Amino acid sequence: METPHIITIDGPAGAGKSTLGEMLARKLGYLYFDTGVMYRALTLAAIARGVACDDVAGLTHLAETIDIQVTPPHIEDGRQYTVRIDGQDVTWQLRQPEVEKNVSACSRDTSVRSVMRSRQRAIGEAGRVVMVGRDIGSVVMPDAPLKIYLEASIDERAKRRTAELQAQGRQAEVGHIRQDVERRDALDRHVMQPAPDALVLHSDTLSPEDEVAVIMRHIAAQASSR
Ligand code: C5P
Repeated sequence: METPHIITIDGPAGAGKSTLGEMLARKLGYLYFDTGVMYRALTLAAIARGVACDDVAGLTHLAETIDIQVTPPHIEDGRQYTVRIDGQDVTWQLRQPEVEKNVSACSRDTSVRSVMRSRQRAIGEAGRVVMVGRDIGSVVMPDAPLKIYLEASIDERAKRRTAELQAQGRQAEVGHIRQDVERRDALDRHVMQPAPDALVLHSDTLSPEDEVAVIMRHIAAQASSR
């Protein structure tokens, strides 16, 4: 069976995109690439260098010049990948509250996004990739042969996010996390339109294994209708 050479997975924070993306990539032997880490890396670099999120020229220059490398994990400490900025391992720093608080604002500007999107496109065009984000199927790779949009209720997403943080040994209370997820939804809404031809899945009622099974059936149906 011929599998699509690029699969995009978009959806809001906490919908389960990274679990699904990693599982699907492993099953197909594809690269798993989470575009959220690029915006997080930019935000971390901006904080470290004192560039404000509303300083469009400064942020665009930073986006154009920092070296962000995302590679398979180089150590086993629960990470899905290793992220380096200018050679320095920042994988866990990308999850800091300070980054979480600023990332949507730092990702907003169109010139910043256009730099990031062209880098993402280059990775996507190499093929055999499951690419995860917000606007990948709708804007970055609109010609991708398979686009998934993963939805989940706000309660479920807040619950998952809380469990995820607690598993990393961080303090997290579901009420606060819910507020944070809602805040990020509002800020990210401008980039969160599902592509018109996306397969929409709801992870409230599907386990990641079920989602993979649905997607594999969809791929088989696509292949047999060609
Ligand atoms: O997916 P994750 O929560 O790591 O993404 C962090 C932030 O990066 C999102 O809240 C959003 O503001 C931004 N982002 C984006 N476009 C993407 C991926 C992430 O604007 N394709």
